[in-house]
Amino acid sequence: LANRMFHPEDTIVDVNGIKIGGKKIVMIAGPCSVEGEEQICRIAKEVKAAGADMLRGGAYKPRTSPYAFQGMGTAGIMAMVKARQETKLPIVSELMSAEHLDEFVENVDIIQIGARNMQNFDLLKAVGKTKKPILLKRGMSATIQEWIMAAEYIMSEGNPNVIFCERGIRTFETYTRNTLDLSVVPIIKERTHLPIIIDPSHAAGDYKLIESLSLAAIAAGADGLIIEVHDDPENAWSDGAQSLKPKRYAKLVKKGKAIAKVV
Ligand code: PEP
Ligand code: MN
Repeated sequence: LANRMFHPEDTIVDVNGIKIGGKKIVMIAGPCSVEGEEQICRIAKEVKAAGADMLRGGAYKPRTSPYAFQGMGTAGIMAMVKARQETKLPIVSELMSAEHLDEFVENVDIIQIGARNMQNFDLLKAVGKTKKPILLKRGMSATIQEWIMAAEYIMSEGNPNVIFCERGIRTFETYTRNTLDLSVVPIIKERTHLPIIIDPSHAAGDYKLIESLSLAAIAAGADGLIIEVHDDPENAWSDGAQSLKPKRYAKLVKKGKAIAKVV
């Protein structure tokens, strides 16, 4: 169903009127974790002013350690809803368990499937039974074929609204958090008709690398970027080291849109 051979024209995923996979690149930004209603509403306004089209924020967090902050849960989702009311930005958040599917269908605009759940086939089937746009992150050790088959799991249940998201893969290199694999942009576009966006934040692990990787991703033909932005990265509850401050993000958006015009 994802195969370009049987569906030559590009699929455009419509999210409250914002088109992912169309002519314009889509900019998604926000903190790794929702830390409270005031925090997410404040950052939502900042990223909107910087040129973002959508807001990201995790409420259910897949943390490496069970002792690390696990996310605000329902309160975090409701804080995102409030931020959408205040800014009109559509909201993206990660669903970790089918247990919370109804909450997500009711409240979020894009359901994110995280890297660690790319092959959680029951979860893929569950979101496949909805019509929500699904942001399908690449597993950190997943081949392109495995990733496409994960999309197929969602689509074969009846949901055609899949957006791929490359977020870096595990390689021998440990200098960066992961290795951003930009070759997937032309490959996914050749093999499938679905949109693909890039998450440079989880690939780099370091805010200083985000701009370069973002501009390269746009030049490669990506349909958008999802970037972690925090107004106090030093004190962020998760992923502060890779989070951009709003001012720096605003500069990136400006440069990115200039590059998008010539590709
Ligand atoms: C995230 O978006 O905060 C996240 C946990 O991403 P990934 O699944 O790519 O690690
Ligand atoms: Mn994160």
